[in-house]
Amino acid sequence: MSKRHLGHRARKRFGQNFLHDEYIIDQIVSAIAPEVGQNIVEIGPGLGALTEPVAELISNMTCIELDRDLATRLRQHPFLQEKLTVIEADVLSVDFSSLLTNGDSKIRVFGNLPYNISTPLIFHLFDQIDVIEDMHFMLQYEVVKRLCAGVGDSLYGRLSIMCAYYCQALPVLMVPPHSFKPAPKVESAIIRLLPHQSPPVKVDSVKALEKIVSIAFNQRRKTLKNSLSSVLTVEQLSQSDIDPNVRAQDLSLAEYAILANLYEQTTKH
Ligand code: SAM
Repeated sequence: MSKRHLGHRARKRFGQNFLHDEYIIDQIVSAIAPEVGQNIVEIGPGLGALTEPVAELISNMTCIELDRDLATRLRQHPFLQEKLTVIEADVLSVDFSSLLTNGDSKIRVFGNLPYNISTPLIFHLFDQIDVIEDMHFMLQYEVVKRLCAGVGDSLYGRLSIMCAYYCQALPVLMVPPHSFKPAPKVESAIIRLLPHQSPPVKVDSVKALEKIVSIAFNQRRKTLKNSLSSVLTVEQLSQSDIDPNVRAQDLSLAEYAILANLYEQTTKH
């Protein structure tokens, strides 16, 4: 199939798969439900498949686009250019607090994300969760499943646990490959991420939580007493009432929070 769409040649290195399915586009815009006065930011507007119907409903929005040609097209958009603030940048380097222009209202972020950077991007947004109202993203279905997974699910891991710490994750819509040009090889889905008002568990340091979770899952086949041996002793594990013989995928967010707090106390003394 041709890689050209609306006169643009899709760039694989930028994860460009453009939506062209009107039914799916309508469903996504309804799920986002943009309203005038909200601080709306789109990641990767591309050729405007979502930008156009969203911008029609509101008076202004910000778009972050890495591809210079696409950013230029949007700045010259025949009827939306007045409404769009186009930031030509790598979203991974964008400080979202600098986009809090609209009084105090937090940012509503959405996008059909470039799949090659989706996990680092989600972590980048988790780091800035304080300025985010909600997020609606198109992702590989597998990543949606990882985000929503709980203890016992096969895809439960670092992404699931950190997502549960920061947000409520709700799958919204499945999107088949033929809704895009070019069609990706994988199924996709829309997810809604609603940041918690306050975290569901108390941790003394989020960095410690991230560290413990990633060390445990880096050696997921080992028991905790082995995988965490560089950061917690067996005595500390037993003191926490957590069985040192279980594996990374057996622990809930609440149990990881206990381990992170133990670790943090040890490093403080
Ligand atoms: N929103 C459009 C749509 O739904 O048809 C395009 C989606 S396409 C999957 C991903 C978009 O993100 C492309 O426009 C691509 O150029 C842009 N992009 C890729 N990497 C990016 C990055 N690091 N920062 C900002 N935009 C990026």
